[in-house]
Amino acid sequence: MKIETAEVVVTSPGRNFVTLRITTADGVSGLGDATLNGRELAVAAYLSEHVVPLLIGRDAGRIEDTWQYLYRGAYWRRGPVTMAAIAAVDMALWDIKAKAAGMPLYQLLGGASRTGALAYGHASGRDVPELFDSIRAHLEAGYRAIRVQTGIPGLDSVYGVAASAAGGGERYDYEPARRTALPVEESWDTRAYLRHIPGVFEAVRNEFGPELPLLHDGHHRMTPIQAARLGKSLEPYDLFWLEDATPGEDQSALRLIRQHTTTPLAIGEVFNSVHDYTTLLSERLIDYVRSAVTHTGGITAMKKLLDLAGVYGIKSGMHGPTDISPVGMAAALHLDLAIHNFGIQEYMRHSPQTLEVFHTTYTFEYGLLHPSDTPGLGVTLDDEAAAGFPYEAAYLPVNRLTDGTVHDW
Ligand SMILES: [Mg+2]
Repeated sequence: MKIETAEVVVTSPGRNFVTLRITTADGVSGLGDATLNGRELAVAAYLSEHVVPLLIGRDAGRIEDTWQYLYRGAYWRRGPVTMAAIAAVDMALWDIKAKAAGMPLYQLLGGASRTGALAYGHASGRDVPELFDSIRAHLEAGYRAIRVQTGIPGLDSVYGVAASAAGGGERYDYEPARRTALPVEESWDTRAYLRHIPGVFEAVRNEFGPELPLLHDGHHRMTPIQAARLGKSLEPYDLFWLEDATPGEDQSALRLIRQHTTTPLAIGEVFNSVHDYTTLLSERLIDYVRSAVTHTGGITAMKKLLDLAGVYGIKSGMHGPTDISPVGMAAALHLDLAIHNFGIQEYMRHSPQTLEVFHTTYTFEYGLLHPSDTPGLGVTLDDEAAAGFPYEAAYLPVNRLTDGTVHDW
């Protein structure tokens, strides 16, 4: 099981993806996702310049040892670029081990704890009627939990809201990173947002009833006291969670929000290590862990993080927009099925071009995702199709307040 080759594939079928393929001397190969939205080539270079040379000749079966070698052995630890690169190696090695065992990865992680992973989709509208149409379309597509985002009167373009075709011709909610030389700039007004959102949730509950799990993403834009106020004002509408209420790096902000509201809280998609969570978990300041396997150092690290969360009764809510490649999504689904403290899985379907390049086996039925029983992760990469979609620079938007001040996007 010696590693013979490791290759980095950068492809852009609708959006950019970075994938690592590791192949052993006996011909077993595994895939890992290293996509970091808007900074893809930094991870590709980190892998090809600094990690691939270290992998050749190593025992592919020594997953924990390789993880520690790349993490502790680099001396300069953590950060999204490093941890996405380590994640790709880790996923690829788990893929190889599970294929060699002839088992779907979730079996190696302890076997299934449930029949499938409850998924939530992204409904949005520029106004309430358009939002209702979007919620109905998601219910018809089988979703049993729905994230709700809407336009804000007076603001042109709001995070998470489907608008006119942007950048590469995709809908805004489908792919917020736009293929422009410089990031698009948006404008934002938190007071207008706080005035508008409670009425939107009241309207959604009146239309769709009390049972449907509803989620909302604040996308790091509020101060702690603003977030506390929003959480309190949304309590009558029984949210599944309020996500990313404040900028993620300020863990103590969640303490203030928690003192004021019983609305469940989720955070962590921009985190890349268990060390970003220690205060949040040990003080029970959140209810759901939002990290992606891709940005947290892979399956090895994510399993440890979720086990620690489980000690405090905190559940998973893994990040799963389209900038997590089908490989990263499959890794999440195997964990979702195996862990005890599963909460919910974010799921946006990938574009048809993406699925031309990445051939998946996971399924979505009756609102539940399943990774399939294909040995390994269950995803293959079509090199010929990938070569047909060369890299194109793309950036997530930059956000400014209406007076021009740079703000969290
Ligand atoms: Mg979020």
